[in-house]
Amino acid sequence: MNSPVQSLSDMVVERVGFGIFVLDRDMNVLMWNRFMQDHSGLSAEQVVGKSLFAHFPELPRVWLSRKIESVFQLGSFAFSSWEQRPYLFKFDHDRPITGGVDYMQQDCTFMPLTRDREVVAVCVTISDVTHVSIVQREREEAVAKLQEYADRDGLTGIANRRYFEARLLDEYTRWQRYGGDMSVLLFDLDHFKKINDQFGHGVGDTVLRVMAQRVAGVVRAQDTFGRFGGEEFALLLPCTPLEDAMRVAEKIRRTIADTPVEVQGTSVPVTASVGGAAARAGLPAYDVLINEADAALYSAKRQGRNRCVALT
Ligand code: GH3
Ligand code: MG
Ligand code: MG
Repeated sequence: MNSPVQSLSDMVVERVGFGIFVLDRDMNVLMWNRFMQDHSGLSAEQVVGKSLFAHFPELPRVWLSRKIESVFQLGSFAFSSWEQRPYLFKFDHDRPITGGVDYMQQDCTFMPLTRDREVVAVCVTISDVTHVSIVQREREEAVAKLQEYADRDGLTGIANRRYFEARLLDEYTRWQRYGGDMSVLLFDLDHFKKINDQFGHGVGDTVLRVMAQRVAGVVRAQDTFGRFGGEEFALLLPCTPLEDAMRVAEKIRRTIADTPVEVQGTSVPVTASVGGAAARAGLPAYDVLINEADAALYSAKRQGRNRCVALT
């Protein structure tokens, strides 16, 4: 006969919201609580006395046997978190449709049961941590999205100045160490104030968006194209000498000037001026390259706009 205290603890084991089962050294099941029954569909009568693998051949046999054996040998607790192994048993979770989570995510504890200092069995507990894993995954996705937004310009969707300068610094550091070529182009839309004045700020915004997308479509994937300020853009061309960079500048100038932007039934002609500079021996800092490209851009403006000028 069980003592009253014994039967209370039996009730607790049956009622708790996590799985409890006990294994001997040969992986035979000695105990199987209600949680395990409810989620596996197999009762204690069906499972107890048999090898765990008889009913669950899909279990990671080698890993689990090793884990249990180590608890028998060392007499200490062992754990496995859902982050290492998302689940032990293929139990359904009770969540509505959740992207990416196929089965109940589980944390497992392996607890030695000792009698006279000898491990006689191992008790395994299974906790449902599906909600934790979902929150964690959502957080990781949100952080990745924020990271992406942090690098982009809100209006045009291309790189923002902060990201552009970080890439430029990377490239400058690489160039300092290994040499080779790198160029920067700065371009600025001509008389953009007039476009805003004539067509309104909303049309001006659309022109900026369309221009940026159009130019993004003609630059190479390894180049970084960013919005530098209001109607000023920058292009970083790694491994590119000035002469080649100026060919790209001319391509961009034509891409912008050749086709007016159609906004709300109006055709808005746009041109841009481009300044280019390349890294050369003695360049003291990455931002000097930007200043040089800016000086070339200023020169292009003074010479009449809608043209490309290289710093010489
Ligand atoms: P320039 O040929 O000398 O470059 O003439 P500009 O009129 O383009 O030169 P300036 O730099 O003096 O003026 C830029 C204008 O661009 C002023 C500002 O109102 C406008 N602008 C800056 N950012 C935005 C924006 O996000 N949206 C719109 N619609 N206009 C902007
Ligand atoms: Mg301008
Ligand atoms: Mg400007």
